[in-house]
Amino acid sequence: QFVHPVPFVRALYEKYEWTAKQDGYSFEFIDLTSGLSGGQDEEAVVWIDVVRIEQVFVNLLFNARKFTPADGTIQISVDRIRHPDNGQSAIRVCLRDTGFGIDEEDLPFVFDRFYRGKNSRKNRSAGTGLGLAICKEIMEHHGGTIGVNSRVGSGSTFFFTLPLSSDPLYPFAEGVFREEGSKG
Ligand code: ATP
Ligand code: MG
Repeated sequence: QFVHPVPFVRALYEKYEWTAKQDGYSFEFIDLTSGLSGGQDEEAVVWIDVVRIEQVFVNLLFNARKFTPADGTIQISVDRIRHPDNGQSAIRVCLRDTGFGIDEEDLPFVFDRFYRGKNSRKNRSAGTGLGLAICKEIMEHHGGTIGVNSRVGSGSTFFFTLPLSSDPLYPFAEGVFREEGSKG
């Protein structure tokens, strides 16, 4: 279904705010699109399966909590970017944490199925290593991307992008949409 991406992400933040704060995290939301000229982001729409995108958000949020001590910070931000290859505009959602970070040797593989990094052993955390593989699959189905920047000791920033629909009457733009049957 069509949603306005910034209010959508803000609503996800608000939905999970209490649980993050209850555990002691400093949990923040930053809208970096609001400074853009032309007020275009009020009109911005993305065509997404809202249940699946919430699943991505929750997977990333739970990872951030799993790999960040409870006195740390988890920050959600939304901004707008232009795809370097095709010039298409997209919304980028970032989840930044101040946790353990990811070892350089693990970084290329964290989106692989059943891959768990060294920090998961140190942490003795439970999990199968499937969470990020599922996130990646969902983002591919949306014509979006997912990625991470991280440094051991200072934290990780996971981000995903959703291409903006330029014409709400024509959501089926190339690459946006592959599996018709399952989309909201
Ligand atoms: P599951 O999600 O199946 O319960 P998991 O969380 O270990 O298990 P993924 O979500 O796929 O698996 O993450 C893969 C690995 O990436 C993790 O084991 C961990 O090493 C690393 N990782 C993911 N998110 C973070 C993060 N926010 N900070 C540090 N390391 C992370
Ligand atoms: Mg996980």
